[in-house]
Amino acid sequence: MGTGRNRMIIAVASGKGGTGKTTVAANLARVRGDVTLLDCDVEEPNVHLFISGEPQGEPEVVSLLVPEVDESRCDGCAACSNFCAFKALAVLDKRVLVFAEMCHGCGGCARVCPQGAIREVPKRVGVVETMGADGVTVVQGRLDVGVAMAPPLVRAVKAHIPKTGDAILDAPPGTSCPVVATLRETDFVVLVTEPTPFGLNDLKLAVEVVRELGLPFGVVVNRADSSDDRVATYCREASIPILAEIPDDRRVAEAYSRGELMVDALPEYRPLFEQLYTDIVRLLQNPLIAGVARASCPCFMGGTPMPRGALQGPHC
Ligand code: SF4
Ligand code: SF4
Repeated sequence: MGTGRNRMIIAVASGKGGTGKTTVAANLARVRGDVTLLDCDVEEPNVHLFISGEPQGEPEVVSLLVPEVDESRCDGCAACSNFCAFKALAVLDKRVLVFAEMCHGCGGCARVCPQGAIREVPKRVGVVETMGADGVTVVQGRLDVGVAMAPPLVRAVKAHIPKTGDAILDAPPGTSCPVVATLRETDFVVLVTEPTPFGLNDLKLAVEVVRELGLPFGVVVNRADSSDDRVATYCREASIPILAEIPDDRRVAEAYSRGELMVDALPEYRPLFEQLYTDIVRLLQNPLIAGVARASCPCFMGGTPMPRGALQGPHC
């Protein structure tokens, strides 16, 4: 499947965990082939359970620069702690306390210190590992135990997005900073949800984030069940395209529990993912849709919803 671009970056995200986000990302990568699949869920990477392969090189250690205070120079003026928006510094009795686990590594405190008493030292946050398997290059971040600062590691994983060739990003669940770090500068976001009240609630939160970032997106409904149409109704009313519906099939859950990809264990699902990829490509090949979507294209995000399989509106 050619994209007509040098590179296409697709992020697969969901407002909560357990919706099948990794399933969609990994199966999409399998049907695409010749693609880089990046596991940005650095607190709990699990893509490797479904697509594993030979390690390519040694794990890359990722560090964050955090402040270290030279007490012989510090006069306790508190300019550093007043500057830090993340409460990673406190001054007590003219002594600076550094809470490195809360530091975002912005370097601001070192710059505002009038005494030049702060230097930045590397603090390890995790590793990035690369594996190759059957035409899919898997890159995953693994946050060290006890480390809370995921975004720098997410950015280190994303640094492995190839200059040419497509990339699929498996985002962390939720809508917090690591998710935003994952979604930034991607071309298209697939939001995976399930047709339950919880799924709908978290989908709405995820939609807010993606719209705030101005990214084109569509929805995949996992464990689709015709008895609950609330997600479908919401998508229709919010003019969000539903790109695919994965049936609530017990065999899919069984394949998942064995660590098998759907498209390998149940080849009848291969066309569903091939069509999903094709639809995303078709959207992004059309510069009007890809560009206008950022400004609420009438046929894609802001007006009459498009029926499935007919992703091009009248003026596109
Ligand atoms: S800004 Fe510099 S001198 Fe002032 S409290 Fe912080 S480290 Fe000490
Ligand atoms: S580097 Fe930035 S986030 Fe870290 S302590 Fe200094 S000001 Fe705060």
